[in-house]
Amino acid sequence: MKAIIAASDKTAQIISKEVRPLKYGEALLDMECCGVCHTDLHVKNADFGDVSGTTLGHEGIGIVKEIGEGVTSLKVGDRASVAWFYAGCGHCEYCVSGRETLCREVINAGYTVDGGMAEQCIVKADYAVKVPDGLSSEAASSITCAGVTTYKAIKEAQIKPGEWLFISGLGGLGNLALQYAKNVFNHKVIAVDINDDQLAFAKELGADITLNPLNCKVSEEIQSLTGGAHAAVVTAVAKSAFNESVNSVRAGARIVAVGLPSDSMDLNIPRLVLDGIQVVGSLVGTRTDLQEAFQFGAEGKVVPKCELRPMEDINDIFSEMEQGKFTGRMVIDFRNKTE
Ligand code: NAD
Ligand code: ZN
Ligand code: ZN
Repeated sequence: MKAIIAASDKTAQIISKEVRPLKYGEALLDMECCGVCHTDLHVKNADFGDVSGTTLGHEGIGIVKEIGEGVTSLKVGDRASVAWFYAGCGHCEYCVSGRETLCREVINAGYTVDGGMAEQCIVKADYAVKVPDGLSSEAASSITCAGVTTYKAIKEAQIKPGEWLFISGLGGLGNLALQYAKNVFNHKVIAVDINDDQLAFAKELGADITLNPLNCKVSEEIQSLTGGAHAAVVTAVAKSAFNESVNSVRAGARIVAVGLPSDSMDLNIPRLVLDGIQVVGSLVGTRTDLQEAFQFGAEGKVVPKCELRPMEDINDIFSEMEQGKFTGRMVIDFRNKTE
């Protein structure tokens, strides 16, 4: 079968891979599609270390073709996810307290094990979340990382309906953050991006205020228009966006860090202490978060914007992503094979 791997020259390559026999508790998926997340770009560029040879992809949706011994949670024909949180140990303090994504022995799809950008993918059945009927596979693929990550991040923001949420970065993650914030949590949203196309898309999706840091002093505008946001979710891959968020929130606010630029952020200690600012990192979501995030998609409250592309486009997609050339998500389609 064909798979897209991270190559040692920091490109993505399509190669043929043999699928190994299933072990206890595993299932084999015939992949339908897999979204391309900015994290795949980081992995391909070896930003988190060299994993060349590994199949990329953690926004995968496939149909169960075969189940291994001991599998009871999936059956042949089910649709299921391949997520970044591929599996935890199942018994550590994090796994047993609803914080399984922090498991110290976590396995991540498309990073520590072969991921979903392939014609077939092996999953640990108990960790592959079933996709509800009424949600297309491409929409489900975006929710498998971008959706669940932002849904969880907004939970972590811990603010009330009607309060202001600052969302920085309106790309693949951010446009879904906006939809969950508006249509599920009922927040008012300030959308900030350096790309006017992303801001126009955010406006269409119902952002209350859109601001471009290249044209205005974002924090001053936000302070004067809203008195400071009640919380911030930062998905932008830029240190400046994290720093901007500190100045854009009001006292007592939480800043939820999601984007992964390889930098440190600036947080002035008097601002931290005197204004009671909290900064928390938020990493994807648990299986339960993903079930919930899927359900809001199935109910039509969150509608991912996806464009299906063939496997051969993967390096073009990465360069378009770097150059900010599209809104929403590009999704590799494995159903229409080109061979
Ligand atoms: P993306 O490329 O689709 O979107 C990034 C957006 O940030 C773009 O719209 C870009 O224009 C905008 N941006 C860049 N600089 C900015 C600035 N200074 N101010 C405001 N906006 C700016 O990427 P994505 O797929 O949405 O992923 C975003 C980041 O989140 C990546 O670093 C990715 O690795 C990370 N991520 C984290 C988690 C997690 O669990 N924490 C999960 C998935 C992705
Ligand atoms: Zn991702
Ligand atoms: Zn664990």
